Amino acid sequence: MSAEEAIEMLDNAAELKTNCLIATGGKPHIKLFKVLGQANDLGLATMLVTDASWIDDEIIEEMISSVDIARFILDYLGEERQDKARGGEFNKKTLQVIDKLSDSSVGVNLDVPVTPGNVLEMGNLTSLAIEHKVRSIRFALPPDYGEELCRNAIKNILETIQRYDRNLTYEGYRKLYHLDDLLDAISRCQCPAGKIWAAIGPDGTVRGCPFSSSVLGSVKETELKRIWVESQKRDVDVRCPMKCISIASVLKEVLDEDLLRPIPIRRALSAWYHSLWGRERVCPRDLPIWTLYIRD
Ligand code: SF4
Repeated sequence: MSAEEAIEMLDNAAELKTNCLIATGGKPHIKLFKVLGQANDLGLATMLVTDASWIDDEIIEEMISSVDIARFILDYLGEERQDKARGGEFNKKTLQVIDKLSDSSVGVNLDVPVTPGNVLEMGNLTSLAIEHKVRSIRFALPPDYGEELCRNAIKNILETIQRYDRNLTYEGYRKLYHLDDLLDAISRCQCPAGKIWAAIGPDGTVRGCPFSSSVLGSVKETELKRIWVESQKRDVDVRCPMKCISIASVLKEVLDEDLLRPIPIRRALSAWYHSLWGRERVCPRDLPIWTLYIRD
């Protein structure tokens, strides 16, 4: 899809009262920033999800004027493993870009794709995020994660919360009195694909979510507004392995008596509950439990 086509589509997105445009992928063309700038002008928040290793000073300038949140990938702590996984000088370049953006208006979110190979490094990666003034760190489970990875991720996030409590912040924190309320809120969450968000591929194909198998239409043939309105009339069939695991029961299993006592854990559980409260549609990968917000 060309930048001009994407800009045209933005009017439709604004009419549908879209609140956020997320651009994802590898190295985007410089024209992408025109699209993001236009989205900003129409009142949409903008997020760029990319690998930071290709970003130079010219792109940083573009980002500062058109991007609200930048999400960069990091898998490991340490140059050797990181560069082996992503190639080149990935580790050094990513950290350099983060440092250049840290004092700008662009909020940096570090995205850690969780694997059995890095699940034990969550604490150290959080320490790195704190050191580089990142605003938040998100531990992203893969679409086909199993119960074991989910359990280990939750355990390590809880340990990280205890270890770095001083550096973390929980907006809108209010006390939660019954753990069951949180577990209930998590287990009631439904997939938001095609209901509160849509993914548009480079060829114009619209899906409810990048992981969703069903295609809603193509913006090359039909305008976005019509595709969206029509898709609301039918129930979109979303086949996604992520919904097979009950995260609430894994969380309940991990939270034994000892873990429930420390104040940082109780604070985090309360914050998770209140950020879920009133929300029916949340993808398991986007549950608040996977993201830690870092204090300024
Ligand atoms: S559960 Fe999440 S990843 Fe799966 S289809 Fe729904 S929104 Fe997409």
